Amino acid sequence: MPRERLVVTNGHVLSMDPAIGELERGSVLVEDGRIAAVTSEDLSGTDAEVLDADGGVILPGFVDTHRHTWQTALRGLCADWTLADYFLGVRLTLSPRYGPGDVGTGNRAGALEALDAGVTTILDFSHCVNTPEHADRALEGLVHAGIRAVFAYGCFAPPRAEPHFTAHAQRLEDARRVHADIAALPGDLVTMGLSLTEPGLIPFADTCAEVRAARELGVLMATHTGCVWAQPSGLDQFAFHGLLGPDIVHVHCTACTERDWEHLKRSDGRISTSPETELQMGMGRPPIRRALDAGLVLSLSCDVMSSNSGDMFSQMRLGLQSARADDNDLVNARRADPTTLTHSVRDALGWATIGGARALGLDDRIGSLTPGKEADVIVVGPGGDRLNMLGVVEPAGAVVQQANASNVRHVLVAGRPVKRDGRLLGVDVPALRRELEASRDGVLERTLADGPILPDPRPSFDDLAVALLPNLDVGAPGAE
Ligand SMILES: [Zn+2]
Repeated sequence: MPRERLVVTNGHVLSMDPAIGELERGSVLVEDGRIAAVTSEDLSGTDAEVLDADGGVILPGFVDTHRHTWQTALRGLCADWTLADYFLGVRLTLSPRYGPGDVGTGNRAGALEALDAGVTTILDFSHCVNTPEHADRALEGLVHAGIRAVFAYGCFAPPRAEPHFTAHAQRLEDARRVHADIAALPGDLVTMGLSLTEPGLIPFADTCAEVRAARELGVLMATHTGCVWAQPSGLDQFAFHGLLGPDIVHVHCTACTERDWEHLKRSDGRISTSPETELQMGMGRPPIRRALDAGLVLSLSCDVMSSNSGDMFSQMRLGLQSARADDNDLVNARRADPTTLTHSVRDALGWATIGGARALGLDDRIGSLTPGKEADVIVVGPGGDRLNMLGVVEPAGAVVQQANASNVRHVLVAGRPVKRDGRLLGVDVPALRRELEASRDGVLERTLADGPILPDPRPSFDDLAVALLPNLDVGAPGAE
């Protein structure tokens, strides 16, 4: 007999399951953390605990496939920065000054921010692992927040005066230690992943070692792929060494060549686009049409918390409108007007939910409201004193193009309510704020004591690439 029953009722159900589709007035029944039924029946009279959607939209929790959660206390810093500024300022200058506690606080606050916005799963691309304790605290932050996460241990080495890890192999050994720690955690909300160092920053033999380590552990990989125009993507080398596969989430891919897309297609690579970063930082347009034309799994991500919004509404909106603009441009180029739009709001919802679940290899567990799956369920809609979700005619349209995190009324992770009636449960927000601000102040103080965050004048990316990417051998075996 089920022990815990809960029903989310009285809402428009966007199940993202093609067999179930949409229910104008429906309910989702949850038993022991799993979805037991998705139905048009009114289940509010059952013996289950009731969460009233109050005419809002019931949908699966959002899945963010690439978030540098540790940067949460750097909010707004990079809002006018290019990719080169970001790389110099955050990756090379601020990150080495992060202590383990800073990473832990950033991760906990960032994961709670995600939950507050209805993002129930993140791939935490954790590339500020300065010591083993940094990894421990980062993981602890996710676990305490109660989010579903792939903790993607970062192999990148921030340039520290006295590095803890003195050899690349030590990082991989530490990743194996963390893998064992995650396996020993109760439940399976958090799983292990590996964030690869960008090819070019390290000798390619080390890249091979990273991929081998991930495959030995049987864990998902994530990597920044083809987002620097001045340098090749490295996919030729990946392909030549047999490293590509569907267990790699390729982030950005904005500067990928035709040949790169062939590699991605042949290997069934998973694509994560971060529209807000890509449009801002000069990476090129989000590769939505390219990924779809190649038949690849497409997902969305929030990326840098030092600049972007931490909610998927923003990424859906920017990605969708950018993809529409790309297609409309083709028509406009003939001095004609489009008669239809090529991507729909339901497409965007798919990228943000089931697409993300597929990218992370979790689509048998989450990503749609399907009986048997774990109950990551959210309700977006009217409530409180918000006005922007009143008078809705088209629920999917309103969610994608008009909602924001303040409209997320209820959030369940594996059936457990973490946000209810617009409020996160069990979170002391003033205390979290104090902790985050103290971390921010400490990191900035330590950094500024050594000089400015960015040099003046700033170097071009071409200069930076030559200095920082010495290991990208353009003429590598396998390249034509
Ligand atoms: Zn990134």
